[in-house]
Amino acid sequence: MMEDSSLISHEAYGAEIAGVLIPRHRIAVRLDELARRIIEAYPDGELTILAALTGSLVFLSDLIRRLPLRLRLDVVRVSSYPHQATASREPSVLIASSGDLPGRHVLIIDDILDTGRTLGLIRGLVLAAGAASVRTCVLLSKRRDDLPGRMAADFTGFDIDDQFVVGYGLDYGDLYRNLPDVCLLRDLAGRAGR
Ligand code: 5GP
Ligand code: MG
Repeated sequence: MMEDSSLISHEAYGAEIAGVLIPRHRIAVRLDELARRIIEAYPDGELTILAALTGSLVFLSDLIRRLPLRLRLDVVRVSSYPHQATASREPSVLIASSGDLPGRHVLIIDDILDTGRTLGLIRGLVLAAGAASVRTCVLLSKRRDDLPGRMAADFTGFDIDDQFVVGYGLDYGDLYRNLPDVCLLRDLAGRAGR
């Protein structure tokens, strides 16, 4: 059967979704490019990916299948948003990595770079564990002109404005991770702001 993704309008995603910011086909094209650049950056062909749960899951699964490397996969879970808040707070580690990091070339993967606290925390842990190298990769990076010294990721899928997005792994109140596109959340009254 022929698939027609244009039949799925954002209206089908629910009243909280304002629209699609980055459609799935643009994500797929960009992931091909990202994967090429990552492969070039690891000429030895050995890589340990440390993925930050839960938001990076969809990005992770699409990306690693484009990486024909000797690849190990580890996860870490860091809390950044308390339930239903949309402004990031001081993160803390909820699930630690398996610990197989000493001497490894580690690529940390997260869904989105906002203040940089989450990636900064994980980066510090990986360095302290004695990794041979540490790089970072995010699907999305928010423009935060108000934070001039914010860290940059080594690999970035898309730079976006400072707005709250869901879908393709990203949630709001634990919902919408399964949307196939990156979508904009409607600015709901009563939503916690920054
Ligand atoms: P940071 O620590 O860089 O401020 O925030 C990074 C984390 O905050 C991400 O891993 C993600 O979980 C969450 N986050 C930041 N911006 C957004 C957003 O626009 N939408 C969603 N769903 N999560 C976000
Ligand atoms: Mg996250």
